Amino acid sequence: MSSANYRFETLALHAGQSVDATQSRGVPVYRTSSYLFKNTEHAANLFALKELGNIYTRLMNPTTDVLEQRVTQLEGGAASVALASGTAAIFNTIITIAEAGDEIVSANNLYGGTYTQFDAILPKLGITVKFVDPKDPANFERAITEKTRALYIETIGNPVLDYSDVKAIAEVAHRNGLPLIVDATFTTPYLLKTIDLGADIVINSLTKWLGGHGTGIGGIVTDAGRFNWKGGKHPLFTEPDKNYHGLRWGIDLPEPLAPIAFALRVRTVPLRNLGASISPDNSWIFLQGIETLPVRMVRHSENALKIAEYLAAHPEVTWVRYPGLKNDPSYPLASRDLKNGFGGVVVFGVKGGYDAAVKIIDSIKLFSHLANVGDAKSLILHPASTSHSQLTEKQQLESGLSPDLIRLSIGLEHPDDLIEALDEVLHTEESHKQGWLSKLIKK
Ligand SMILES: *Cc1c(COP(=O)(O)O)cnc(C)c1O
Repeated sequence: MSSANYRFETLALHAGQSVDATQSRGVPVYRTSSYLFKNTEHAANLFALKELGNIYTRLMNPTTDVLEQRVTQLEGGAASVALASGTAAIFNTIITIAEAGDEIVSANNLYGGTYTQFDAILPKLGITVKFVDPKDPANFERAITEKTRALYIETIGNPVLDYSDVKAIAEVAHRNGLPLIVDATFTTPYLLKTIDLGADIVINSLTKWLGGHGTGIGGIVTDAGRFNWKGGKHPLFTEPDKNYHGLRWGIDLPEPLAPIAFALRVRTVPLRNLGASISPDNSWIFLQGIETLPVRMVRHSENALKIAEYLAAHPEVTWVRYPGLKNDPSYPLASRDLKNGFGGVVVFGVKGGYDAAVKIIDSIKLFSHLANVGDAKSLILHPASTSHSQLTEKQQLESGLSPDLIRLSIGLEHPDDLIEALDEVLHTEESHKQGWLSKLIKK
């Protein structure tokens, strides 16, 4: 059965699964470390990549394989590799493309952990990351040197939810013979097909909306399958690789494998030898989540828009950012590209700054105070003192993180319950007198 023509909702439920000998409808969890070889020739062929098949669960697993195939089809890519976390997916991606002496040009508005990885860990390995403001794609072009190996962005960036022009930045990358790596966690393939816009490598933290229930940690990287690694800028793909008996990944692979050289190198070099593998149980959790991704993303986005509109009208709120608000700086670009919704995260500031923000977080009901996004339940966080506290004050301000910023990850609750919970902590005599809350909920 070819699933090539199925639509997103159908693929989310079916892609990648071929029913096995047990006729099990649900995708089985294959809890095994290793797999029997049929004979020594079979074993040798598997190790030589002459035949693709299961060897050891650090490298591949049938449950994880369904997850990888499903995400590949949802992203419209050629191959995916699932890893232990989104963070591991990012690190394994970078070291598949770059080595000591190389450079990456990255947007500066990144997830806190990614920023620290790029700012503090990669330089110790000899990989320099140049940070640029992604709002002007020309900033990437200006930072590229002959040592640059890739450009890196997030679709909707932390902390103020600026939407990056994936298409324009992909054009800069390709004009310079470089791949564009996009962390698409905040949009998921349901809201944005980054590969259609030119992304060469797409990363999703499965932990967030793809899983959708805050029950597992995982990440996945998808290879669009069309970047030319032979262009002269990627010696890791054109020089013999000591990690894999001298193979030149961009040159020596036979036709069906050649387009997915990047995904194969992620699997057989860093995943195999550094070992940040996902457990089959977590792969199963993410498959459960992905089944309902399209339904959930619509509700996350609808609820988030309602909350953003509510906050924008509130007298105690000094500013709100949500790419779906018509007067948001991100709206013109975001509304050009995001046709199914603007995602689940809203950020805002309140009168009274840092102290008021902390008080709100400590007293709000219904919202869970924790460091995550993309749960079915609504979440609240103060990034300046938590997820982004490793950044210096200067770095925080440069990336748009003000001390009063409160981040909401809007869940699937009834939006009026969320508005009432917010109202309780934003309530002042004056706002109450205006009676705007009851008006909002009734309409
Ligand atoms: C959470 C997150 C990550 C890291 O993913 P983990 O699964 O937590 O390691 C990377 N990028 C973005 C945008 C995220 O939200």
